[in-house]
Amino acid sequence: MEQLIDRVFPNLPERIRGLGYVAYNLWWSWHPEARMLFKMIDRQAWKESVHNPVKMLRELPGEILEKVASDPDYIKYYDAIYARYKHYVNSKGEWFWQHVESPNSSTIAYFSAEYGLHHSLPFYAGGLGFLAGDHVKECSDLGVPVVAIGFMYPEGYVRQKIREDGWQEGTDEKIDREFAAIRKVQDENGKHLIVQVPFTEPAIYVALWEIAIGRVKLYLMDTDIDHNIPEVRKISARLYIGDIEKRLKQEIVLGIGGYQVLKTLGIEHSIIHLNEGHPAFAVLELMRDQIKEGKNFDDALSETRNRSVFTTHTPVPAGHDVFPFPLIEKYFSLYWPELNLSKEAFFELGVNPETPGAGFNMTALALKTCRFRNAVSKKHREVTQKMWQGLLKSGASYSGEIDYVTNGIHVPTWIEPKIMLLFNKYLGPDWIDHHDDPSIWELVDEIPDKELWDVHFGLKNKLINFIRERVRKRWIEDRINPSIAMAEGVMLDPTVLTLGFARRFATYKRANLILYDRERLKRIVNNRWRPVQIIFAGKAHPADSPGKQVLQEVFLAARDPEFAGRIAFVEDYGEQLAQYMVHGVDVWLNNPIPPLEASGTSGMKASLNGVPHFSILDGWWIEGYNGENGWAFGEEIVDDDRNEVDARAIYDILENKIVPLYYDVSSEGVPEGWVKIMKAAIKSNGPRFSARRMVKEYTSKFYGPALAESHKIRT
Ligand SMILES: *Cc1c(COP(=O)(O)O)cnc(C)c1O
Repeated sequence: MEQLIDRVFPNLPERIRGLGYVAYNLWWSWHPEARMLFKMIDRQAWKESVHNPVKMLRELPGEILEKVASDPDYIKYYDAIYARYKHYVNSKGEWFWQHVESPNSSTIAYFSAEYGLHHSLPFYAGGLGFLAGDHVKECSDLGVPVVAIGFMYPEGYVRQKIREDGWQEGTDEKIDREFAAIRKVQDENGKHLIVQVPFTEPAIYVALWEIAIGRVKLYLMDTDIDHNIPEVRKISARLYIGDIEKRLKQEIVLGIGGYQVLKTLGIEHSIIHLNEGHPAFAVLELMRDQIKEGKNFDDALSETRNRSVFTTHTPVPAGHDVFPFPLIEKYFSLYWPELNLSKEAFFELGVNPETPGAGFNMTALALKTCRFRNAVSKKHREVTQKMWQGLLKSGASYSGEIDYVTNGIHVPTWIEPKIMLLFNKYLGPDWIDHHDDPSIWELVDEIPDKELWDVHFGLKNKLINFIRERVRKRWIEDRINPSIAMAEGVMLDPTVLTLGFARRFATYKRANLILYDRERLKRIVNNRWRPVQIIFAGKAHPADSPGKQVLQEVFLAARDPEFAGRIAFVEDYGEQLAQYMVHGVDVWLNNPIPPLEASGTSGMKASLNGVPHFSILDGWWIEGYNGENGWAFGEEIVDDDRNEVDARAIYDILENKIVPLYYDVSSEGVPEGWVKIMKAAIKSNGPRFSARRMVKEYTSKFYGPALAESHKIRT
């Protein structure tokens, strides 16, 4: 680490050398006081680095750094924050160690195909990644001893550009690792550590990278190295490859390679946690280890089950990976003898009894080999039980219930700093330390309406300025057509009631639902005295043509002069734009086809910041909605076309409830009825849909009991 700091930041004066360490730990990303430490050096440079301290410190001229190093005010602040940082990373964290019995040697290996951590680290596609990122950040805060494993996708990032006709084009952008908070793991000779994935032919090697996330380490595997033949190099190129064989290879690397990485690093783990089915091959490795120790298969399976946790996220059947048996045979024929299994018995591990001929199903494998299994909301558990009833009710050793742990968001990551200051003032300065306790949130009522409203209005302005600035840049640099500039939001008006809709453009999310009755929507948005505007953002998967068509429909509506510039589509949705949007719109709209949204998390981010959720009753909102903290629709069971019913519900609620309430302002210009809903949204959802509540539940339901099992086995 010392050498890295010397090499990467040669201009960094000794007195403030700690900045180098802070820059290389994402701890800064969820501590506003640490972000301030960088921003104070040079606001403009901070902005130009897109809030990425590694990039900023690398690029700043030495004189500027020398200047702050001799500024007593800066030094005072630096010393305080650096001490706080050191205290954080050098302590174990308390909660976990106070609440779990005999937690020695209790590392939890967390496997996920993607992580959403910060926009400077684009290894994510969407919700699954942010859930993983928020999970590990919270584990860090609570002291849960997690080690995370994932992929480095060198071409992970598809920058979204929309053509004039509304069609999404992707341009690949290779991430520049030299400018991100990520570093090579070195072997004893100081060389980049390379690990061979067992049982691969031709051999697959991965190079290891490391990201520090507070107290947690995330190891990322990269196949794009000289040791590999060209086709192998491409394995980790990008997320969720469509080609089934490449995808199988990816999952072999993630599960089997990931397990080997832990061994190579000498990390003893007691538990494996699979975030979704992609990394499920890891449990085979845990079994193989037991069998090598002399256990028979049944005993090895039983111990593996006691030590493995599986979280399923997908109520869409096509979202579960199923590999044809011949392909499994091609890659695993040397593997099953190691487990003392016949080919048939090995295949059986991945069979869903309801569709035995379909192939090797990764979710079936995970369900059969993990005793601790959960869905991600109450409703999703019901859907999952039904979807997998053949397996869960088969009478085999793996039969039984699936539990649920409703998703949550990492509050320090998603709260807007000015909202945080408001909470510090009215909930007490240490509210953040107890933020999963609902009783402290009662004090939200103490915030004067005007104060909350003014902060919110400021954030809305900030969002709209951010969007306009982006369009301005495209206007200058790309010479875009004026109607494209309209579509991308130049006409947005901060005084107008603003709905936000930002998520992946998968068809089931129905981004175009609000366009169902265009004439009615035109009347709503164009109301002379009480207009409405809608900001859309989101990417379609590069291989998802129907998703791209929905996006095109939305984009063309945004271009249509009849909508008067009140519909905007903002390009290139990512973590940064998500932050601006969940902080700055007035209402968060969500209308997937139920029950296909397992949980959803963006609405939680919005609610935390006083942006009420306006959503169909699906996923987390079934648990979250209480009649006064937002709006809900879609209770009806509709067999055929539910678009019409749901669209009508949206228009009715907008016209009859949302619009009148928003525009009913006091003499001071504050919409008091509205602010009441904002407060109810914050109060009810803040504690309950926090990653803190979530990780505590994972610990009490799964990690604790699984650790107890693993200690029993060992002693
Ligand atoms: C939170 C988040 C998501 C997930 O949102 P959903 O509500 O699950 O659709 C996706 N992308 C980004 C950038 C996010 O911040």
